[in-house]
Amino acid sequence: MNHIIKKNHNISQKKISKNSIKVLYRLNKSGYEAYLVGGGVRDLLLGKKPKDFDIATNAKPNEIRKLFKNCRLIGRRFIIAHLIFKSEIIEVSTFRAKNNNIENNKLYFNSKKINNGMLLFDNTFGKIEEDVYRRDLTINALYYSIKDFGIRDYVGGIKDIKLKIIRLIGDAETRYREDPVRMLRVIRFSVRLHMHIDKKTAEPIIKLSNLLKNIPPARLFNESIKLFCFGYGYLTYIRLRKYSLIYPLLPFLFHTLSKKNKIFLKNIIIKCLKKIDSIINRKLICYPSFLFATLLWYPLIEKIQILLNTKKLKYSKAYSISVNYILKKYSILLGIPKNIILIIKKIWNLQKDIEMKKKYEIKKIIQNNNFFQALELTTLRSKIENKIELKKILFFWNKKKTFF
Ligand code: ATP
Ligand code: MG
Repeated sequence: MNHIIKKNHNISQKKISKNSIKVLYRLNKSGYEAYLVGGGVRDLLLGKKPKDFDIATNAKPNEIRKLFKNCRLIGRRFIIAHLIFKSEIIEVSTFRAKNNNIENNKLYFNSKKINNGMLLFDNTFGKIEEDVYRRDLTINALYYSIKDFGIRDYVGGIKDIKLKIIRLIGDAETRYREDPVRMLRVIRFSVRLHMHIDKKTAEPIIKLSNLLKNIPPARLFNESIKLFCFGYGYLTYIRLRKYSLIYPLLPFLFHTLSKKNKIFLKNIIIKCLKKIDSIINRKLICYPSFLFATLLWYPLIEKIQILLNTKKLKYSKAYSISVNYILKKYSILLGIPKNIILIIKKIWNLQKDIEMKKKYEIKKIIQNNNFFQALELTTLRSKIENKIELKKILFFWNKKKTFF
């Protein structure tokens, strides 16, 4: 173990959230070990602002709950504690046992593997020296101690931060099989931190990409948001494609679409991600609803076209049947939560209102909470489809919206 003492690293306590410091001290004073770990340490060492702060401790979930009133225990695969503060949620996880203890050691009988090596239940508690090997990347496995303000590095994370290398801990194929989401995390961090993926870490990804199909949709949905809605969506998309991860992540893409809609979809994804990146880089909020309303637009159009061609329905009827069909199908397939589904529906319905430009409804349309997301979708459509009518419509709305 490499112990980097306080004066040899650049982490200053001022950069750590006050709540995390309080939690670390309280755990420590109650006789437990407590470390800041994961993205918090990594990003501070890289001179970036951490997205959140994660804490690792030898206190068990129930013991954590006793210490903190604002604690909620969550998770099925492994239980972790969420400490809920006004401005942030701090994740506190109990050190987990080393993987190869799982089969032999009866103390750790809470772990279960399924055939292809994926871990299902994983409430096996251990020591810091074991916990470190359960983490994904060397750069995510650095522990900052509140006791001496030093950093404990068991796996060469400091060196990899300096060399800018994304390296999985342990045998890459085994680690991906245990949890295929690690493949997405490798891509995400390599893009976000501008780092190079180590050869052995990169090598098995294409072969194993299909394992993502075993991951529950709700987890994949959360990962998609992290991949596409944090300012590097376009580059992440390109890298995911390079490693054959896009299809298993978004299985509907390019599936059962006509040639024309397939091309439209491919183009609109790229434009949509570039748009989201530029919105985030201007520090505006990003809406996952906009991402999915856009991604699902051409599958919706395809469904409407099929119904119109085969069932001789009125357009409005074909439209409403298709909306319900597509939203139901993909909310299950992609784990999109209900509140987001509702907004997607509103964005789609607004497409018609925007195209019709009914005089007496203009103010009402512009004041609709989802108008700006809807207009962005119309803008992307007009760029992709290159239709003069759509361009005229946009010209009209862009002039109008400045009045309100
Ligand atoms: P960020 O929060 O900035 O996206 P992070 O590295 O902190 O990045 P989290 O999802 O908050 O990511 O996870 C915290 C830590 O938990 C990680 O740094 C890593 O050590 C560990 N971890 C998270 N997900 C996995 C996983 N799938 N497999 C192994 N370890 C993981
Ligand atoms: Mg984190």
